Amino acid sequence: MAAAPPPCSPKSIYVLANLLGIQPLCSVALADIKSKVSLGNVVNEIFSPVTAGREEITEVGWDLLIPNLKDSETFARVKENVGLMSSGPSSRCVGTLKVGLKKSFELKKQKRQPSGVKLRCSYLDCSQYHTYPSYSSLRSYYCQLCMARNRWSPYLRCTGCTHVRDGNYTSCQRCGKKLI
Ligand SMILES: [Zn+2]
Ligand SMILES: [Zn+2]
Repeated sequence: MAAAPPPCSPKSIYVLANLLGIQPLCSVALADIKSKVSLGNVVNEIFSPVTAGREEITEVGWDLLIPNLKDSETFARVKENVGLMSSGPSSRCVGTLKVGLKKSFELKKQKRQPSGVKLRCSYLDCSQYHTYPSYSSLRSYYCQLCMARNRWSPYLRCTGCTHVRDGNYTSCQRCGKKLI
């Protein structure tokens, strides 16, 4: 019986698929990485030399890691890895840290915002695409500016999940967040 080929890590597959520009394979590998990352292995994952510089992979890891940094054991492991990085040749891991910082900043920003979403227009050249009107000022689920311009499907979309409105609800029908 022929020996089974050695198992190949989804990370290696991802890196290779990325290199070859095979998008569908990238997606499959990334989904697999996401399904396998856990609190037990996430620190090793994001600080591994294979992962370093792969922003999409480190993002997956940081998403899990940041909310758990309050855990002293997890924090100690991150600290240890950062220490190893600054003394070793793994300057590539700087990218990993950059992503982590970006992520934690985004998370803080989210927390500061009131819990709710606004609506915006779907048309890039509409003023209600850039400045989100408050829900109380809208009075309709479509963009009145675009409606007045006879535009096709001038419905407003959720700024949180981009769901396009199809009726008057007080919360987003997809992400469930309250409209503010
Ligand atoms: Zn509009
Ligand atoms: Zn939404």
